[in-house]
Parts: sequence; structure tokens; C-alpha cells
Amino acid sequence: MPASKIAFVPEGESAAGLEAAGGFFERAAARDVLAWLRLLTDPADSAAVVRVLGRPPIELRQVDIARVVQVARKAKLDLPAALGPAVEASGMPPEARERIERFQALHREAQVAFEALRPRLQGTPKELAAELTAASETRALDAGQIPEAHAQTLRETVELMREEVLGGAARIAGRLGELRLDTDLDISHGVVRYLELVKLSALADRPAGQSLEEALADVNQRLLAACTPLQREIFQSSALDHTLLAAERGEPDAQAPRPAVAAAPGDAFARREEPSLLAFVPRRGEGLVLSASDIDTYRSCPLRYKFARVLKVPSPQTLHQRFGIAVHQALERYHATDRQSIPHSGHAAGSPPIGDRRDLQSASQHTTVGQMLELFETCWRRGGFGESEAERELHGKARAALVLYHRHLEAHEAEPVWFERSFSFKLGPHHLRGRVDRVDRLPDGAYELIDYKTGRPRTAEQLRDDVQLSLYALGARESWQVEAERLSYYYVLDDLKVPVPSAEMDEDWIARVVAEVGEAIVAQRFEPTPSPSVCALCDYRIACPAWER
Ligand code: SF4
Repeated sequence: MPASKIAFVPEGESAAGLEAAGGFFERAAARDVLAWLRLLTDPADSAAVVRVLGRPPIELRQVDIARVVQVARKAKLDLPAALGPAVEASGMPPEARERIERFQALHREAQVAFEALRPRLQGTPKELAAELTAASETRALDAGQIPEAHAQTLRETVELMREEVLGGAARIAGRLGELRLDTDLDISHGVVRYLELVKLSALADRPAGQSLEEALADVNQRLLAACTPLQREIFQSSALDHTLLAAERGEPDAQAPRPAVAAAPGDAFARREEPSLLAFVPRRGEGLVLSASDIDTYRSCPLRYKFARVLKVPSPQTLHQRFGIAVHQALERYHATDRQSIPHSGHAAGSPPIGDRRDLQSASQHTTVGQMLELFETCWRRGGFGESEAERELHGKARAALVLYHRHLEAHEAEPVWFERSFSFKLGPHHLRGRVDRVDRLPDGAYELIDYKTGRPRTAEQLRDDVQLSLYALGARESWQVEAERLSYYYVLDDLKVPVPSAEMDEDWIARVVAEVGEAIVAQRFEPTPSPSVCALCDYRIACPAWER
């Protein structure tokens, strides 16, 4: 439905006018309003909620947003509903509780205001939110628009913070006249920011020969003596000292101040320091737990990895994702049914090969193409698909593809020996894990690893930088002692097998990729790297600073 039918747009004005206003909707403040609108129309819109929580006037720290998401996932609640139990959670700091309560009060007010407006809207609010979101994302992203971080000297930092403190003073002063419960919190933050400015000035002017560490200990002690308990808590949770020390040592700054979600450049008070998120990064022992998909996600955009894997912000499954799951499940059940019908098999995933070629042929005879399609229909029904044109089209494509799959398997030269087989191994300090859709034994006795895909086929050239199958080859060797000679993607809908170029089966290369990605994640380097193709598939655009001016 065009925006002219649903928003307060004068008669005759078209949606094109709204699209032309896309530049306006790229502004941080406009995207804040959009995020509020989205969360009011759909509380399950987690990306919008995360933006609202991270932006002024709430400014919940990332680490506390991660805690809220944890509560929401555990209790199977949307994020606004999870805030109630999150406030009660034992690990939630008092400052975060106050911020959450501030959000809840604002949310209640916004709901009342929104309900009052609802009768005046000509379309549904959800349609309005969708239309405005589309209008705000019309421009093509240019990676060069992300401002690059640069190392600052202590004096430059003092100058920046001086402006920040002055801007904050005006903002806090404006709130003193309002009847608010959280004025104390605002004042305490302003005071701590001022104390940090004093700290930086003192460090910049410290006596020659005094180390930064010594000076910090001395200055902190004096400043803390002047703090109230609340200010002390805020002061001590700041990552400023870690950042300064890491910068002096020339180390990657594991606890560097991270911009608040979607903080606008120039919105200095939104650039609060953030404590480390390492506790929320999937880890085992000294290393990380990584899958090929984790590595791909990080390499495509570190910020997307942070939203998805560190903060674990829920994102809705797309139609194509649900479709891919249904097809994978149908194939898995088809092969599981085959295994049950083989006299010598009785194998679970990850078990030894399923026997000789004769066994497999007899299994195929047991599981007819009709039975295979029945299995698919069951998976389709469980996937909750509807009757839209797109869904009907996908349904038809899948049935046709499965018929071809069944026919080709019967005439197949190679022998499929494992399905959905898991691997897990250590590479350096990191734990790698995954699951291979199918492993074939080729006529010459070599093995081929096959991963099913339901998307558009990629050429061998496009797969030159592919991580997934290279990692699977390593997993097969380390975990099952199987050397894979061939690695292929099987594009089920197109009945097309595309081998990954053998040059990509380079162990050193994949080990290097894992080490580099692991190191960057541990150092919490989560800057966005926007590109139209990746951003178009990202669920976190509303919370991403790369999408605004
Ligand atoms: S919108 Fe683009 S830049 Fe932002 S997190 Fe997603 S992929 Fe990264």
C-alpha cells in the first residue's frame, strides 16, 4: 500500500515524494523515531528495540542489552516483555535497572499516544512503519562513508571530551525543569564525564617521567574520594583507563570504548564507554567456538556478527530460510528412512559408512519417490507455510527438484556414505564445529563432501574465497580421519553440483582465516563494513550506524 494512503500525506501526493525524503530518514533522530514506531507496531522487532535501548535517552549499555536478550531468549519473550524480569535479574547493575525503568515509563507514554493517533491513520501502523523503513534505506551504501577511527593523542581526547561535557551540560540542564525520576542519574553521568575530563587533563600534564599507570592510580584515587556512591559506580565501570593503557602499549584495545548502538557522529553523549562483551562471546576454554557460518558472518560484516552472535539479537526467519530448512529436513528424513531399511546399517549421524553399493540400491527401492515427497509435505506443513504466490512457487520447485534428486541418486556412480555428519576439532585455541550434509565415496575410493544449498547457484569463480567447505575438509580429517578429495555445493533446486576450486582446499589459508577472525573477535573489533549485497540481507539495519548520516 502506498504511503499516501496510510500516512498524513495530503491528497494527491505520491509515495515517490516519501522516497525522495529518504535522505531525511537517514538522520539518526529520524531513525530513532522510526525505531520507536516499529517497536510500537511490533514488539518482536528486536533490532528496533535494540536501537531504542541503545540510543538517547535510554542509552542502555551493550553489555546490559546482551543481558536483556539472554533473559528474553530463556523466557521466550519479546524484548520489551523481557525487560520486567531482566530488571529483577541478579546480575543487572542498578544503573541499568534505572535505564530500563526509564524505557518502560517512556514506552507506556508512547503506547498511550500511539493508541490516540491510531484512528487517524488511514492504513495500518505496521504498513506505515514498513513504508518509512523502505524510504529510509533507498540509498546505496558506500563503504567509504564509514568514518575511520584514528588514534588520538591525550590532548586531542581532552579537546573532544571538553566539547562533549559542555554539550552534555546543556542537555542535563534542560532536563532539570522536567518532572522526572531519573534526573539524578543524568546528573551523575554528567558529573562523571566532567571528572573524566579532569582525569585526562591531569594525565596530559603529569610530571615528566611518571608512567601513565602510576598517574592513573593517583588521579583515580583523588577523584573517587569526591564521588557519591552512584557516581563511583559509573566512574569505575568506565573503560577509559583500559583504553588509555592499551593505546599507550600499542595493543589492540579489547575494552575500547565502543560507540553506543547507532550513535550519531557528533552526538557525543551517546558515545559512552562500554565494558567488555567478552562474557557473551561463545567460548570454550581459552578459545572461541566457531562455525563456518560464524566466520562467514564476521568476514562479511563484524558488526553483523556482533548483533547476531554476541548480543544474539533475535531475527525473524525469512521465507527462503524456512524453505531451505524444509528441504534440508526432507532430504535428511529421506536418507534416515533409507538407513532404517538397510539390514546392516542402524547408523546414527556420524557413524561408520552405511555399507556397500548393493545396500544403498536396495534402500532406494524401499524409499520411493512418492514416499520422499510425502516426507517433504510433512516438513512443509511443519514449516508453517501459507498460500502466497511465492510460497506456492517454492513448493512446486522443491517437489520437482526432489524428484530429480531421487532419480539421480539411484543412477549415481558414487556411493553416499554419511548424511548430516557432525565434526568438532581444535584449531589453535579455537573450537571449530559443523555438520556435513552428505559424504560420497567416489568410484576410486576417494571421498567427496557435499553441502546442499537452496539459493541461487554460485560459480566456481565466486567460490574462490569460500570458507565453509575448506573448513569441512579439515573437520573431516581431524574429526573422522577422512581425507576429502573433492568438495562441492549441490544446488538442489537447479540440480547442479558446483565443485569448490581445489586451490581453496588450502589448509594454511583456512588456518590463517580462523586465527585472524578469532583474534579480531577476542579484541572485539566489531566495526560495520557495509556493502549493498551484505546489508540487503542484514536484519539489523535499523540498529546500524552505517545506515545514517
Ligand atoms: S546493515 Fe550492513 S553494515 Fe550494518 S550491521 Fe548489517 S551488514 Fe553490517
